[in-house]
Amino acid sequence: MENAYINNIYLVTNNLEDIIQSVEQNAVDFKYYSGSFENFQKDSRNHEIREQDKFVFINDLIIIEKEFYTDSVTKTKKKEFLTRMDIDYPHFLFLVRNHNKKDNISLDYYDDDFYYFLSNEEKESKTLKINSYFFELLFKCIVNRKSVHYYIVNSFENIVESVIISRQKKKIESLYKNLEALSKIDVLTKVLNRRAFFEAMELEKKRTERAHRRLAEAPQLDSGIGVFKKFYGRFSCVMIDIDNFKRVNDTYGHLVGDKVLKALGRLFNSHSLFREDDIIGRYGGEEFVIILPETNAELAKIPAERFRRTVKALEFDTEKGPFSVTISTGISEYRAGDKTCEAILKRADEALLHAKAHGKDTIVCYEDIENGK
Ligand code: GH3
Ligand code: MG
Ligand code: MG
Repeated sequence: MENAYINNIYLVTNNLEDIIQSVEQNAVDFKYYSGSFENFQKDSRNHEIREQDKFVFINDLIIIEKEFYTDSVTKTKKKEFLTRMDIDYPHFLFLVRNHNKKDNISLDYYDDDFYYFLSNEEKESKTLKINSYFFELLFKCIVNRKSVHYYIVNSFENIVESVIISRQKKKIESLYKNLEALSKIDVLTKVLNRRAFFEAMELEKKRTERAHRRLAEAPQLDSGIGVFKKFYGRFSCVMIDIDNFKRVNDTYGHLVGDKVLKALGRLFNSHSLFREDDIIGRYGGEEFVIILPETNAELAKIPAERFRRTVKALEFDTEKGPFSVTISTGISEYRAGDKTCEAILKRADEALLHAKAHGKDTIVCYEDIENGK
């Protein structure tokens, strides 16, 4: 909190000389200025007061009789007056002579100014007891006023802060969502999410294209090494879709459906059915896709079949009794002319549709369809 103490007290006197003389000057340790209001203004403007007494004016108390202040110096004038005098927030105490209030000490304030209403007795006797008690009271008023002011300012700051915090919270939430999107793992099934899958597949495609370039540059490799060629520069794509999954959701509920997806995810991650370097991703709701590096379509059928059988054998317990699911699988193999990953995926999807159309729970290889198998 800003200091609320009073540095100096100026008793600006005109015809208040008599009253001022009765002020207990030793009540507080203050620097005393005595002079007419006009002189005070003039002296202040000329910086005489400041230079003489090295007065700071901050937290100074200027005691002026209200009567000769009111007429000429309105509120705006006061502001002007302060600006002109280069005074930083002094406290003003106006002595008010003509008031009709009860004859008790009355210290009041409006805006930034304090008013001391002279009692009838004081008015008549022209004795004003400004003693240490009075200054204590005034000091308390100033401190209280400042406390209230700071309380309001602080409360406002707290409100602003809570608005900022809630904004930051929103920002964090949206960043978190972005992070989740940037993260590679699908939350439910713990396999790669679609985005991460595409990135990984793209890399595998590039690697395979490099292999093809190398093969073209080294024709000696191209001849005779059949086993090598069976793997090098090849990869397959296996697309899996759960059969009648909508019915599972409809019959047992979405949560049970989720359990099925989780179970498939666990199977994928067990690496007992697919290799560790196989790229496994969740392609859609109940669709998965696996890239098998250095594996041709024919060989891809082996783990695909293993997976089909394992899934079919899984039993899910529910309140409505146990059930199991089947999957349909489409397989395609990378071709040297493939410009995009989508091209390979599209063939796997076509094979998958073929499997769906031919009774589901089966594996179809795009190459086999082509060959009329
Ligand atoms: P089909 O044999 O032809 O594949 O039939 P289907 O019912 O499996 O296929 P369809 O595309 O009609 O429905 C897929 C369902 O998968 C619909 C959708 O509600 C559900 N699904 C997608 N994502 C999730 C998920 O994260 N959790 C659950 N529980 N269900 C999901
Ligand atoms: Mg589907
Ligand atoms: Mg389905």
